Amino acid sequence: MGKKIIRLVSPRGFCAGVRGALEAFEEARREHGSPIYVLHELVHNRRVSRDMKKKGAVFVSSLAEVPAGSVVLFGAHGTGRAEHLEAEKRGLRVIDACCPRVKRLHRAAAAIPAEDELIIFGNPDHPEVRGVAGHSGTERVFIVKSRSEIADLPPMHRPTLLCQTTRDHREIEEISALLREKYPGISVNSGVCDAVFRRQRAVEELAPQVDAVVIVGSPHSSNANRMRDVASRLGKAAFLVEGPEDLPDLSGYGVIALGAGASTPDIAVQEVLTALSRES
Ligand code: SF4
Repeated sequence: MGKKIIRLVSPRGFCAGVRGALEAFEEARREHGSPIYVLHELVHNRRVSRDMKKKGAVFVSSLAEVPAGSVVLFGAHGTGRAEHLEAEKRGLRVIDACCPRVKRLHRAAAAIPAEDELIIFGNPDHPEVRGVAGHSGTERVFIVKSRSEIADLPPMHRPTLLCQTTRDHREIEEISALLREKYPGISVNSGVCDAVFRRQRAVEELAPQVDAVVIVGSPHSSNANRMRDVASRLGKAAFLVEGPEDLPDLSGYGVIALGAGASTPDIAVQEVLTALSRES
């Protein structure tokens, strides 16, 4: 195979929500000094978390690990009402870095009357999904991971569908259509966020013009995984890498699209680009 051509997917890298969360961390450091406790992760990128640790972030998996009176940062993809109440009860100083697009889902979930139902399409282990469920006005919450689970949903009075912001936009369209068929009165109240949509569309547009797609992002980043999946859905060889060390053997591919998830720092993209260019 001759010279490799690299095509950059655009937009790529940090979305407004991630930038806002990182600014909230920097502001908290300036104002309060370290340590700044962070519940779970601020954004889903291990490199970002490593850098934050060097700057005085202490990551905890439960509020019980945070000493009373300390500053605790809640992540970009939101936190449930129970955690907010617990933090208040324990006298913790909360800085909520939740993205406004996720807060919109919290408000929509909270507005659902107790006698109605909330269906959430997303990964039940993802903090965003747990957070939305945790703000629900109804206890009748059903989390759906895939279309195959729709058949098992019970009869419902007046369901509302909310979707995790980082899913594949085509999958959301399919799930919404199937749920509308099953529950004609369903209120469909959300889709992927615009930043995620634009990144997925950019992959959809570029993928047909290349031989393989490389997405830079952490393995647990939902939106980076979905960008890779979008390329696979279009029949392209697609790879998710965290850095140049993860690159597979790409010698069989002449034209490569390089993209990055919404929580991937530019430096990681730059390093992968340098490694790919070396092979060109
Ligand atoms: S991916 Fe979308 S919802 Fe998530 S932080 Fe970024 S802008 Fe907000």
